[in-house]
Amino acid sequence: MQTAANLMPIPGHIDPVPVPRSFVPRSDGRIDLLGLSLADLRMALETSQLEEKQAKLRAKQLWHWIYNRGATEFSAMTDISKTMHPWLEQRFVISRPNVVEAQVSTDGTRKWLLRSDDAQDYEMVFIPDADRGTLCVSSQVGCTLNCTFCHTGTMRLVRNLTPAEIVGQVMLARDSLGEWPSQPEGRMLTNIVMMGMGEPLYNFENVRDALKLVMDGAGLALSRRRITLSTSGVVPMMARAGAEIGVNLAVSLHAVTKEVRDEIVPLNRKYGIEELLQACADYPGTNNARRITFEYVMLKDKNDSDADAHELVRLLRKYELPAKVNLIPFNPWPGAAYECSTPERIKSFSSIVFGAGISAPVRTPRGRDIDAACGQLKTASEKKSRAQLDREAALA
Ligand code: SAH
Ligand code: SF4
Repeated sequence: MQTAANLMPIPGHIDPVPVPRSFVPRSDGRIDLLGLSLADLRMALETSQLEEKQAKLRAKQLWHWIYNRGATEFSAMTDISKTMHPWLEQRFVISRPNVVEAQVSTDGTRKWLLRSDDAQDYEMVFIPDADRGTLCVSSQVGCTLNCTFCHTGTMRLVRNLTPAEIVGQVMLARDSLGEWPSQPEGRMLTNIVMMGMGEPLYNFENVRDALKLVMDGAGLALSRRRITLSTSGVVPMMARAGAEIGVNLAVSLHAVTKEVRDEIVPLNRKYGIEELLQACADYPGTNNARRITFEYVMLKDKNDSDADAHELVRLLRKYELPAKVNLIPFNPWPGAAYECSTPERIKSFSSIVFGAGISAPVRTPRGRDIDAACGQLKTASEKKSRAQLDREAALA
């Protein structure tokens, strides 16, 4: 059973809704097996009075069916005796996030609006390319951090996604791409970026547990080298992320002076640039073959001067960081206080960084027409509720 001690608070500016971490029965009394590790699965079976040896064997079979075969029905599990299917069905489910809406952009990018059982909405985005397919996964409903250029940061409601809801996004993408059973070759879904809604390092345990499932070679089997976790700079959690998850790191730097970063990434007032870069230098496993990505959103007359570019190079050199810089043209959203830098400015910035021997590609915005591009994620339900509020205000 869940106790208050299991509820994990989320730090930030708004009071988020804490949610239980491990398995709790759903409203129909059944336990969702999705998101459970092998050990937790076994425990769930033992809690349901399955004898220890049986539980061990069945847990292994169930785990394989769930994460390797993508099964959602116990009746499909041919190596589990038919007589046991009703027993399992009465007690357990294997869920998927509920899909509220699925959209396809003119450039092939797909966005799904998902809804949890407690009616919280979050989004995931699939970006197909010639040689890869990247799933952009959310870690929270909304985000507590309020970066001034990011639409997600303006959502009022925030809660951590559970491991089931995080790994569920990957499962759902595999369902819709028809990529079961899990195969090492010829997949469309090849990469995962934790760059959807939310700050993954403010939901550390759930993100870690979900990614462990994603990386398990016997299940979804995505290599940690094909997974990237993006953080706005939660310095105290970065060492743990390196040690306990070990995926590629991306850091949302976005500015090189305290004044500007304090404004656009308010978390900078807590953990400054130098502290952040030191944590990057300490991040395990980085070398020239495995660099840290620094994301830099291009905001007109804010952070995009030649001097900024030179300062960026100086900082990356000072900390001897094996780095690549990802220049992201600002994606506008209604009411945003910024404009995107001009293409000439972006070019000039990029060539200064590139001239210093650091790769600095400009990221092509994808899925802008369906609000699927970086920083545009804000759920339709919240947009609707705002419209609803406006209507109510007009009637009053
Ligand atoms: N919270 C994490 C991960 C999600 S955001 C983080 O901030 O790193 C993924 C990336 O999109 C981040 O680099 C974020 O700063 C960037 N981003 C946010 N809003 C944007 C916008 N309107 N235009 C372009 N990039 C944006
Ligand atoms: Fe949160 Fe990242 Fe958006 Fe900042 S940029 S508000 S940390 S999702």
